[in-house]
Amino acid sequence: MTDSPQFTLAQTRQAIVPVLVPMPAARPYSYAVPEDMDVRPGSIVQVPLGPRQVSGVVWDGETDSVDPAKLRPVTQVFDCPPISPDMRRFIDWVADYTLSPPGMVARMVLRVPAAFDPEPPTQGLRLADRRPERMTAARARVIELAQDGLSWTRSGLARAAGVSAGVVDGLVKHDVLETVLIPPQPVVAVPDPEYYRPDLSAEQRAAADRLVASVGGAASSVCLLDGVTGSGKTEVYFEAVAEAIAQGRQVLIMLPEIALTAAFLERFEQRFGCRPAQWHSDVAPRMREKVWRQTATGDVRVVAGARSSLFLPFAELGLIVVDEEHDLAYKQEDRVFYNARDMAVVRGHLGGFPVVLASATPSVESRVNADAGKYRRIHLPERFGGAALPELGLIDLRRAAPARGGFLSPVLLEDIGKTVERGEQALLFLNRRGYAPLTLCRVCGHRFECPDCSAWLVEHRFRGQLQCHHCGYSERVPEACPECGTLDHLVACGPGVERIAEEVDRHFPDARTIVLSSDMMGGVTRLRLELEAIAQGEADIVVGTQLVAKGHNFPMMTLVGIVDADLGLGSGDPRAAERTFQLLSQVTGRAGRTGRHSRGLLQTYQPMHPVMQAIISGDPEAFYAREIEERERAGLPPFGRLAALIVSANDRLTSETHARGLRQAAPRTRDITVLGPAEAPMALIRGRHRFRLLVHGNRQADIQAFVRTMIEKGPKQRGSVRVQVDIDPQSFM
Ligand code: ADP
Ligand code: ZN
Repeated sequence: MTDSPQFTLAQTRQAIVPVLVPMPAARPYSYAVPEDMDVRPGSIVQVPLGPRQVSGVVWDGETDSVDPAKLRPVTQVFDCPPISPDMRRFIDWVADYTLSPPGMVARMVLRVPAAFDPEPPTQGLRLADRRPERMTAARARVIELAQDGLSWTRSGLARAAGVSAGVVDGLVKHDVLETVLIPPQPVVAVPDPEYYRPDLSAEQRAAADRLVASVGGAASSVCLLDGVTGSGKTEVYFEAVAEAIAQGRQVLIMLPEIALTAAFLERFEQRFGCRPAQWHSDVAPRMREKVWRQTATGDVRVVAGARSSLFLPFAELGLIVVDEEHDLAYKQEDRVFYNARDMAVVRGHLGGFPVVLASATPSVESRVNADAGKYRRIHLPERFGGAALPELGLIDLRRAAPARGGFLSPVLLEDIGKTVERGEQALLFLNRRGYAPLTLCRVCGHRFECPDCSAWLVEHRFRGQLQCHHCGYSERVPEACPECGTLDHLVACGPGVERIAEEVDRHFPDARTIVLSSDMMGGVTRLRLELEAIAQGEADIVVGTQLVAKGHNFPMMTLVGIVDADLGLGSGDPRAAERTFQLLSQVTGRAGRTGRHSRGLLQTYQPMHPVMQAIISGDPEAFYAREIEERERAGLPPFGRLAALIVSANDRLTSETHARGLRQAAPRTRDITVLGPAEAPMALIRGRHRFRLLVHGNRQADIQAFVRTMIEKGPKQRGSVRVQVDIDPQSFM
């Protein structure tokens, strides 16, 4: 076949194409293109790979000059808009930056293979000309409804007419109703930028104007929208969203906990007349297919999504908003390690459109970029409508200690009592799920640990279980100690939210107390209902983990108590102070959002700690100035660069040996140093023994090239060894 005339013809077109397949492939594979097939860079195709058929994207660039006859042909081109050139650049960029195989980044785009084919039309029913020989009341109701001439679904028609589906089937059988095909429907309506224009304050207007001006310009830009909680950041960036929609561009709004922010979707609807399409792990598979497809075709104009929405195949993306840009949820630590906030900035740069980063407590990285003029900073220092920020105070636990066996200071308890008496709500925040973080035997001192992780088992009293929060291992709480056999001598150490709720119940038996945490039974749906109930005032005291910190609006919430403000400080994480500052500011910012006088009280053993002082001083600038100075002195991000290598294996020695080998392979340069290997703080996870190396370079250092060399020159990965590269690590566990 090689010298057939068709082949020569095909070769002048392009007989061979590179195809990037969604696997850990370092580069695209070459495939022959059959004569009658029309493919171009970006086309989504099906190709044979070993014994299987996989989908992939036709890539750019040259292929090795091989004889097409020796290559396997592309099986099929899907009827799907091609992946855009800037999305392809983006995939390459992310792969290069994160040191991941491009195929694995492409895999994040090609998540939903069922969406590569057009949605099939659904079957509908419409009234035909015939009428039944025998008319019944039920049949008459159906016919009357169907007289509207529209097409109905079988079950929709039956339900609307209040008859069984059998009645409808009978009418189909007698040709009274005929089957028609209904084309696929858009998952959401097109948002109307003019639907409801709010009256912005002068300050908000000025901020919005600056954002709007950046939309549709030729160049990309990054704006840091930095405003206190309740200043109206959402209202302000909605103006930029409206502008992008008006200019015919698509918009992506990223949120850290999209599954839970029903309030956000409602606000979007009030502003634009319909909801945005949603993209997160709780979206049902069929819906995901539709959203993916319609994002590619351009039918969906606005997506609100979690970090993975950054990899949707937008056709005409023109704006990305990253709300709560400082949030840790943007960091993915699985397969491809990336920070969606940083990658969004890159996406905007490659696509030539603006990116808005919004936060009340921006990351130090973003603040430094803004101060250096790389980002534009738009500052909203006041709450909308003159609402006061909560008055903040510290409770020194050394002086106002909780009663024996309790965790709440009498000072805090008194304030909770007064709040409830006034008919307002109190929130107690503790970032610990379950009842107690540690259980031990009072007689022999045995501690309950996970068999597969270096972690204590957390008691969940409500479920009667001890659980590992790292791998999900669980066992029933035993009656006797497994070590010494003594009965009934297990003690719970330290508080979790369940235990705080118990303490609250003891003090306020008549108050309605709700516990909110991510492991609640009933999952997201139940949580959403609970959050709504709280907003409606159906609880007096809420005890919650960081779920409640994020973006919810509780109008009656006037007291926020932080059970353990010190938690998270001194964890060895270079961002510990920043994290604590952000989390505590965010939680206390829940209070008083509707103008009532409100308070935030932080229980601490370290009242003089700079973080505590910064929070209560109401002067975040001082905190940032100090934190930025310390980072600069230590050469930590963004003044220096970090990369982590996490080595794991089924046994400790193999893991350590491999980690040492990597270290030895490190090139010698002046501007990059390697720390470790050291056993990871979480030395064991799911039975895998972990060692960490930390690569620290100055700001200009090519840390990627350095790590690449370590891996290439280092020992071959054999057996159970796995090496994960984490550029710009957020976690040091
Ligand atoms: P942030 O995101 O900065 O915390 P929001 O955008 O959530 O602030 O606004 C806080 C509250 O103030 C919301 O309930 C919002 O509806 C209201 N609000 C803000 N700006 C306006 C405005 N211009 N007109 C009416 N309500 C506003
Ligand atoms: Zn475990």
